[in-house]
Amino acid sequence: MENYNPKEPWTTKKGKTLELMMFSDYTELCKWLQQTESAFTGKREKNNYHRHLEWLLKRKGEDRSPVMLCSFCEKNVVQYFTIRFSYNNEISVSPEHTYCHKCVEFAEGPPLPFKFSVLKGKSKQDQEKIISLFKQVFQIKKPLTKKKAFQFFDSKHRN
Ligand SMILES: [Zn+2]
Repeated sequence: MENYNPKEPWTTKKGKTLELMMFSDYTELCKWLQQTESAFTGKREKNNYHRHLEWLLKRKGEDRSPVMLCSFCEKNVVQYFTIRFSYNNEISVSPEHTYCHKCVEFAEGPPLPFKFSVLKGKSKQDQEKIISLFKQVFQIKKPLTKKKAFQFFDSKHRN
């Protein structure tokens, strides 16, 4: 798995690009990996689809580096955010509630890292809110294309 370094995004026969699904349908992508894992017997090597899913979900979605600076110290890049809940349990996130490794002491509530796995178990609506924050923090410009999404995950981890 560590040696797998794809050169282009993966698009399924039905026209779904895995890299774009990281931003739009993370839950479905996790399901695809689960299905692939349970079908994998270990008798042969993993196929490239399996490796591509692992590359995205287990490696690249977990080690991206934010670009946005911390609004408290304006020196370091942010590394954490907090989720706030309203009375009716709706979540809200915003760039004002993001923190670098030092200013995280000011966080109200448990600080979360900018890893795609924080989307797990969240509703579609909540995932959309978090992804919109991720796009700001990682400074991903609109429109998000297959190529741009691939380059984002393919780029070197900078920290
Ligand atoms: Zn700071």
